[in-house]
Amino acid sequence: MKIAMIASEVSPFAKTGGLADVLGTLSVVVGRLGHEVCVITPAYRSVLQGNFPVRETAFKLSVAIAGRRQEATVLEASLGKRTPAYLIRADHYFDREFLYGPPAGDYPDNAERFSFFCHAALELLRQWPVEIVHCHDWQAALAIILLKAQPARYAEIAAPKTVFTIHNLGFQGIFRQADWPLLNLDTAFFTPAYLEFFGNINFLKGALLFADKITTVSPSYAREIMSAEQGFGLEGVVRQRAADLVGILNGVDYHQWNPWMDPYLAHHYGETSLTRKGACKEELRRKLGLPDKSDTPIIGMISRLTPQKGFDLVQSIFDVLMQRDVQIVLLGSGAPQYEEFFRSATSRYPDRVAVRIGFDEPLAHRIEAGADLFLMPSLYEPCGLNQMFSLKYGTIPIVRAVGGLKDTVQPYDGVAETGTGFVFKPYNPQALLDVIDQSLTVFRDKRAWTALQRRAMAMDFSWDRSAKRYVDLYRQLVN
Ligand code: ADP
Repeated sequence: MKIAMIASEVSPFAKTGGLADVLGTLSVVVGRLGHEVCVITPAYRSVLQGNFPVRETAFKLSVAIAGRRQEATVLEASLGKRTPAYLIRADHYFDREFLYGPPAGDYPDNAERFSFFCHAALELLRQWPVEIVHCHDWQAALAIILLKAQPARYAEIAAPKTVFTIHNLGFQGIFRQADWPLLNLDTAFFTPAYLEFFGNINFLKGALLFADKITTVSPSYAREIMSAEQGFGLEGVVRQRAADLVGILNGVDYHQWNPWMDPYLAHHYGETSLTRKGACKEELRRKLGLPDKSDTPIIGMISRLTPQKGFDLVQSIFDVLMQRDVQIVLLGSGAPQYEEFFRSATSRYPDRVAVRIGFDEPLAHRIEAGADLFLMPSLYEPCGLNQMFSLKYGTIPIVRAVGGLKDTVQPYDGVAETGTGFVFKPYNPQALLDVIDQSLTVFRDKRAWTALQRRAMAMDFSWDRSAKRYVDLYRQLVN
């Protein structure tokens, strides 16, 4: 099959979260399964200034938008050995410091930027027709809407089947009605039966209605988004499409996330050489200026700092947690109130807390290797990747039982000697504190702890199985 994946982030070209990891790997693995895959994504500043081997192509694109014609060129790079990535270059839109906007808020022209991106991607597909168009998240949603709502405009693309993947229903691409002309869509589609959402335009809603199949990134999340609690107002639309919705768990790229061969680590280890994990812990402490208290467990966190990730719970237990014998290492950026909270925590507890605000891939790997526990108390979590990385690194996850966290971490049971992590359910501070206390008790029992680490490290979430499920879905559509 010939498949185009359209997404606003693809690792290694640009990344703010798990979407980029998924695109960078899924596309390559589907290619390896014998299909012809290309990925289409914007050429952001990180691409223009990065060290990626990119080539100019002969493709020239022209899109009518906002009352003028906007031109774009197309750069080509490779993912893996045989998957081309086409990077849409329109510097006016994408040569900016951030992908979506500075921490304080989104760029005001995001409707135009991503409408342009989707139009340009379809212009490219006129010259590279495919059988499956697979779009990811709201930034790529309009490509499906345009194809399905106005197929005659895209006759050359020959009515491909469409798949839409929800990586996070919390981001929908909601814009004012005044932006409607940017979509180049008949106003008949601005009604509650289509893209209208309480008087605004909702890109993601349109893709949910028009896509042939919908996927999301874990089986639990597929169920949860049908509820008012986690549907973000779209639960009715999701339920309407339930027969075409499937949850396929994300995988991990174990070439990048593997303590045996991680290039960012000074010491490599596996299930039978866990003392070298201890050396990674020392190294992490040295790097972050934490005193060496070898028996004290380190709890790691790597995250966007947003309410979604449960940081209000972390804030409310923080001072009580500091009465325990633990050190905290946090890497992240996001909401100013959380950045400020963690910055001030380092001055209040300089020997116990190390915080790095920013995005730092090498440090993320070193935290995964050097920490003993990894904390993800998310309010909601479509899949989550860090808990899966943590398992492989023998860094025991403490998670809330939602979405992909629930699907990937099995609760510890000391009697049966089963489980791979510590799991709590009610979203309240006491429940979080209780589960952390449970983890600290087990940590002190070295025999039980090592057995737990080995069970965690033996878990396998490689992409092959999940990629095959996507391919089965594509097959259902083209046959
Ligand atoms: P989400 O996509 O909701 O942000 P995921 O757990 O699915 O969460 O994926 C997050 C990805 O981004 C992981 O690869 C994680 O390691 C990475 N990441 C998040 N914050 C940072 C950071 N500050 N520095 C480096 N990597 C980060």
